[in-house]
Amino acid sequence: MSSSGFASQNGAGGTYANGPSPNPVSLYPSNQGYMAPPQPTYLNSTLAKAPTPPGPNTNRHQPSPVGMSQHSPHQSASPNHRPVLTSASQSSTTPPNSYYQHPQQPPSWHYGGASPPAANHISSALGPSAYSSGASTLPVFQNTMQPVGPVPPYSSLSSVAMPAPPALNVLAPQTHPPYGIPPTAMRGTPPPPAAGVPPPPPHAYHNDGSYSSQPGQMNRPMGMAYPSLQPPSYQSMPGMQTSPYIQPTAQPYQQPSVGTAQLSPSLAALSLQSETPEALRVVNLLQERNLLPLGTVTVPTPCLPQDLQKLNCSPEVFRSTLTSIPQTQALLNKAKLPLGLLLHPFKDLSQLPVVTSSNIVRCRSCRTYINPFVSFMDQRKWKCNLCYRVNDVPEEFMYNPVSRSYGTPHKRPEVQNATIEFIAPSEYMLRPPQPAVYLFILDVSHNAVETGYLDVVCQTLLENLDVLPGDTRTKIGFITFDSTVHFYNLQEGLSQPQMLIVSDIEDVFIPTPDCLLVNLKEGKELVQDLLKSLPQMFCKTMETQSALGPALQSAFKLLSPTGGRMSVFQTQLPTVGAGALKPREEAAQKTSAKDVQHLAPATDFYKKLALDCSGHQVAVDLFLLSAQYCDLSSLGCISRYSAGSVHYYPSYHKHHNPSQSERFQKDLKRYLTRKIGFEAVMRIRCTKGMSIHTFHGNFFVRSTDLLSLPNVNPDAGFAVQMSIDENLLDMQAVSFQAALLYTSSKGERRIRVHTLCLPVVNSLSDIFAGADVQAITCLLASMAVDRSVSASLSDARDALTNAAIDSLTSYRTSVLTIQQPGLLIPTCLRLFPLYILALLKHKAFRTGTSAPLDERVFAMCQLKYQPLAYIMLMIHPALYRVDDMTDEGALNIDERTIPQPRALQLSVEKLSRDAAFLMDNGTVMYLWIGRNCSPAFITQVLGVESYAAIPQNMTQLPELDTSESSRTRAFIDWLRERRPFYPTLHIIRDESQLKADFMQNMIEDRTESALSYYEFLLHLQQQVSK
Ligand SMILES: [Zn+2]
Repeated sequence: MSSSGFASQNGAGGTYANGPSPNPVSLYPSNQGYMAPPQPTYLNSTLAKAPTPPGPNTNRHQPSPVGMSQHSPHQSASPNHRPVLTSASQSSTTPPNSYYQHPQQPPSWHYGGASPPAANHISSALGPSAYSSGASTLPVFQNTMQPVGPVPPYSSLSSVAMPAPPALNVLAPQTHPPYGIPPTAMRGTPPPPAAGVPPPPPHAYHNDGSYSSQPGQMNRPMGMAYPSLQPPSYQSMPGMQTSPYIQPTAQPYQQPSVGTAQLSPSLAALSLQSETPEALRVVNLLQERNLLPLGTVTVPTPCLPQDLQKLNCSPEVFRSTLTSIPQTQALLNKAKLPLGLLLHPFKDLSQLPVVTSSNIVRCRSCRTYINPFVSFMDQRKWKCNLCYRVNDVPEEFMYNPVSRSYGTPHKRPEVQNATIEFIAPSEYMLRPPQPAVYLFILDVSHNAVETGYLDVVCQTLLENLDVLPGDTRTKIGFITFDSTVHFYNLQEGLSQPQMLIVSDIEDVFIPTPDCLLVNLKEGKELVQDLLKSLPQMFCKTMETQSALGPALQSAFKLLSPTGGRMSVFQTQLPTVGAGALKPREEAAQKTSAKDVQHLAPATDFYKKLALDCSGHQVAVDLFLLSAQYCDLSSLGCISRYSAGSVHYYPSYHKHHNPSQSERFQKDLKRYLTRKIGFEAVMRIRCTKGMSIHTFHGNFFVRSTDLLSLPNVNPDAGFAVQMSIDENLLDMQAVSFQAALLYTSSKGERRIRVHTLCLPVVNSLSDIFAGADVQAITCLLASMAVDRSVSASLSDARDALTNAAIDSLTSYRTSVLTIQQPGLLIPTCLRLFPLYILALLKHKAFRTGTSAPLDERVFAMCQLKYQPLAYIMLMIHPALYRVDDMTDEGALNIDERTIPQPRALQLSVEKLSRDAAFLMDNGTVMYLWIGRNCSPAFITQVLGVESYAAIPQNMTQLPELDTSESSRTRAFIDWLRERRPFYPTLHIIRDESQLKADFMQNMIEDRTESALSYYEFLLHLQQQVSK
């Protein structure tokens, strides 16, 4: 059994028909505390059978007519290979089964030998809050300089690689690097592990001084009197302004050099060979069930010299699936782990160094921004860490505005911060920075008005009108639509807003284009009038049609001269005009339980319009509020390709579903007031020898590595897959740099640069030791979404399972030195099978029709464009017992005591009728009250007399003056504060309708259509042992 790349890039495409496995999941005694013996329901993932004829690969290298290819076009399985989700260039021609040559291990599922796993054998060593989402716990930036002051007339570098995109609709075909490269160095069979030799530790480097380059030779006088010492364009913080640190003499500097080999990783590893790092400690998953960490899941720290690691980019912003980069693609293929980066480039940061400079120092060859991982040859030369070109240090860079000293270019903030922002000079603009422009497009059909959403939108906007990001140039406008499209003249001088109706939706035109988008400051009163009157204007409408397409077309016409943001609120399937859609859900549900149809858009109308928007710097955010099917997979394209965001509130109704309404209102506030960047592009560069080939997120790929982002927001995440094109043999480290050029809401052109440096290693054990299980899971999730759409859901599910099987097999055959029974995994990956199972049970990928099509598609959207921190809770929710919380180990924040209950495994066996549990899945929290929960808790926290008195639809905890109440509320509030969007709370009991939703998150338990965690492990073990 072997693996191919993500797709059949080596030619013979085809999809798999997966039949039942000849080896059903092994049965085992049911007295082990697990549920009934498994049915072979999970068998479709094992063997590839019956390859179908060459698949849909004919367009592999043909740019699509609109130049758009968001996912790799090579996603169908090749006939020789099982579906796997490895990177596209990891193809293999290895014959099946060649990876599984080690002797079969006898199954050994007895927990610790004699004692069967009793239901409550879990040790109590679990710690507080196993999963945190979005919370910033790492102090990221030490340097808090803020720029002020004038820009000196420095001469600037001549060429500019990242200009502001023109306001032209230029949609160049995406030019991926070729995928069809035959595998270069794939080995059929890994060498047998050397018996008795422990795996080398991952520490290839030491901070032993051998990295420091020699102090540069100063060959010219330095100091205050130096003629080019100019007024600092970069002013430090007040506290720093008095720094007397201006030294007239040359300072030796210790710039760590990582560009060339100075110490081979293997040499470095020798010194540590006696100890096995914790990350590689072997865990037998069949024996150890208690895997959730005490606190948050640790992010592995790259094994870099300490001085470099200290400067490295925060993993909250930029992280890699492998924190140790394999030296060759062959080695990567052998590890069977995906290689990719996860980015949260516009994350809200509490501290961000900002530099104003007319001369932003970049490599003359590859345009990399100078960063902490370049090497200074001497004071006048720096060597690019991406392409190795030696560049001159510009004269003005010799002055350090932080220390106000001269001659220490390596102390400049650009070289001391892996995340930094530049205020860009004029050459980064092709036109004056655009103003903030907000256009709201509101569904006012009968269906929409009936939900009551319009009141919420208008009210929330009224309340936040003054805090919309922007400046005196900010513009705003409104369009409403039902079967026709309505515009609102808000021109200054009018006594009230004027409504203009365009009924010709076949060829929609813009009446009075100059008066529809108005300066918010000048037109504020009219805007307020409109917002106050809009909900009433349509309250009696009987119009049921929806002309969403024509409304979007006219909105595009309105915004295209400036660029900006469209916020679209839609409550039903568009029925008339361009972009009208037909219901597809019923057909989708009729098909086999295993696969789901209609995950792909029904029309390219929304994608094409999105690409027009992207070309004119317009992003479209979609708010879908509906109880009925809206074809999110088609509608979502409008946001996906224009770099917008999608928000979905199924069964929204202001009165019938108050908690949903509350969430919508809070989310909307966050949406309206969060930071925004306009007319943005993001480029991701990597060290020569590596390449980026597939992007995930919402954007349009303008060229191989340039993402067009008409808007960028702090809640957008991106992922990329990478391959190693050339052997990185003489490199100790490689770097990755993401540069985001955008226009701030204040009209400044800014560039935010993140640089990540990772060591290169040459052994599999080092690769495994640096594996980042959360990043791997998130990247695989994105890849699986693509796979579901391009191939099929079952194909994606198989590939997910195979990802776990393959990496475990590789570990077992190539890393483990002592074979022992069980399902063995290094500590750092111990949660991998659990996360894979969680993905298989996630709404995006679960089998059957239990997930409405739109909800499934929305879950897929979220996996693709949300940052890792938000996704992890969605994949693996957190469960806490909350009726016995104490102050032990509690946090103290702003004089509030926040208890930290332990995170529990997601299994019914963890629940007790005597207790109360909180489950947090990111967007929803369930407070489940056991039937026999102590009356004291029920009274003191819920404020009702007894279990029976708990209301059916309780969504809020009363503020009671009891310590239990304040403790519980403090914990829930704290969880909510740690993420940007607002999770609703449902208090449920056994009879509640939502109990099924709650139980669906019990990932470790068996369901009708899915294995329990233990069964899944057995399945993996069986495959790995082949
Ligand atoms: Zn370079």
